[in-house]
Amino acid sequence: MAKGAGRGSSGGGYVYSTQHGELCPKCERPVVGCICRRMAAARAGTERVVRVGRETKGRKGKGVTLVTDVPLDDVELALLGKALKKKCGSGGTTKDGVIEIQGDHRDAIVRELEGRGWTVKRVGG
Ligand SMILES: [Zn+2]
Repeated sequence: MAKGAGRGSSGGGYVYSTQHGELCPKCERPVVGCICRRMAAARAGTERVVRVGRETKGRKGKGVTLVTDVPLDDVELALLGKALKKKCGSGGTTKDGVIEIQGDHRDAIVRELEGRGWTVKRVGG
């Protein structure tokens, strides 16, 4: 689909001021009670497709299992990485939004992630 399809005037960046302070131009609620972010989070919740893949090039043995597109912030992602390492009994790293577990643990990781209610897609070989 064409991106940025016209929706008339967007009026981006327009902020009202009242005694409540700034109002969100989208939902017209005080910024503290803004629902836009929550709605965006809810929308994201329906599109949680976590990808589990494997990379062997430039790696020793079975390579590494890569988990990407996890809908978590850095702190939670690090915790998940830790849990997966423990589950797999393997080492690994978490950085730049990607969890890397040494060895091929795709089956165990897919099961674990599905258990958290996410849709998991296996990618690559
Ligand atoms: Zn808003």
